[in-house]
Amino acid sequence: MKFGGTSVGTPQRMKEVAKIFRPTAGGQSFVVLSAMSGTTNNLVEISDYLYKNNPEGASTVINQLEQKYIAHTDELYDTEAYREKTMQFLKEEFKYLRSFTKSATTFSEVEEKIILAQGEIISTNLVTNYLLEQGDKAILLPALDFVRTDANGEPDLNFIREAIVSQLKEHPDYDIYITQGFICRNAKGEIDNLQRGGSDYTACLIGSALQTDEIQIWTDIDGMHNNDPRIVENTKPVRQLYFEEAAELAYFGAKILHPTCIQPAKFAGVPVRLLNTMNPTAPGTIINNEIQQGTIKAVAAKDNITCIRIQSSRMLLAYGFLRKVFEIFEQYRTSIDMICTSEVGVSLTIDNRGHLTDIVGELKKYGTVEVDDNMCIICVVGDLASGNVGFETRACMAVKKIPVRMISYGGSNYNISFLVKAEDKKRTMQALSETLFKD
Ligand code: ASP
Ligand code: MG
Repeated sequence: MKFGGTSVGTPQRMKEVAKIFRPTAGGQSFVVLSAMSGTTNNLVEISDYLYKNNPEGASTVINQLEQKYIAHTDELYDTEAYREKTMQFLKEEFKYLRSFTKSATTFSEVEEKIILAQGEIISTNLVTNYLLEQGDKAILLPALDFVRTDANGEPDLNFIREAIVSQLKEHPDYDIYITQGFICRNAKGEIDNLQRGGSDYTACLIGSALQTDEIQIWTDIDGMHNNDPRIVENTKPVRQLYFEEAAELAYFGAKILHPTCIQPAKFAGVPVRLLNTMNPTAPGTIINNEIQQGTIKAVAAKDNITCIRIQSSRMLLAYGFLRKVFEIFEQYRTSIDMICTSEVGVSLTIDNRGHLTDIVGELKKYGTVEVDDNMCIICVVGDLASGNVGFETRACMAVKKIPVRMISYGGSNYNISFLVKAEDKKRTMQALSETLFKD
């Protein structure tokens, strides 16, 4: 079970979610926690100040954070003993954070990652102490002992499996195991992380390694909706998604899940359930290996997309043209999301503009280059295999009044994507909902 930042965002929330951890008779739960909401951002801020050689700025944020946690500690515990125990822990924690403001050496990425790890270390200690105070048979297993990435920065699945299994053998008789999401060690043994939002990933890695009954991602909404409820009216929860559908949705903007976390669960065949801490008995969304034939499930959008078109008569009947184009993106470590080609041109999209000027400069060697900013990918997900006649037509019918810049269909069996201007995003999403999910 993974609980995100808002699910453990206040002492009151911590007490509420603790009720959810408690397993039914005979079972055991493994709980992955994020940092309390806002904390990771504060830690990023502290690191920012330290990069800019401003220890006073960093100290101000550290002091504010400390005050906040002292107040939380007061509120969370019933007994002086546990207040005292947690205060002692916080004292050490904040002493450690302050040591970075006094360091004579220049601040580096290694130190930044250590700082970013403290949010989850603090939240898990607070919650574990609370469970122990309440008499639960709970134990905190440090993620830094068993979540590791390899030389490519990818989770080292074999290591994780062996390490977690041996941890559980060593500590067999607990009802609730608690660990930190997001944080890990890298191949060099340094403290690292699985990128922002990475706690979902931790939960999926652990659930897959342990082959649990299911992996539960607890957030503060009722599962995945069939469109973005912040933008479109009358969205409905989607009760079931196929792994691939969920992966496409997560990647294309449905903020509820970390985009890469579905893969390990899919390989292990462990279903992932999205649940709501504010409404724990609601059914949520289950993600598993079933394909619901011929159903379109959901729409999601990804913002801040840049579209690049390269046109060249040299592309006509030439081989190797696309390779040259793609190599430029590889050289600048910029990943491509959508691609459409014709005989004389190729359009593609990126969401990382960091190297745009260099990329465009290089591309001009191969053709005429046009760049469109402020675009948006709208992705329709469902059973969209080519054998299901008429489904892509329904999606296209929905956008008949919208100037569509690119359409991508056939890349997978589960998606059709439209590239539109940001200003057309809302009406495109609304039109898709109206056409695809009418009843
Ligand atoms: N605390 C980390 C973040 O805010 C990881 C997570 O919450 O999933 O990104
Ligand atoms: Mg999250």
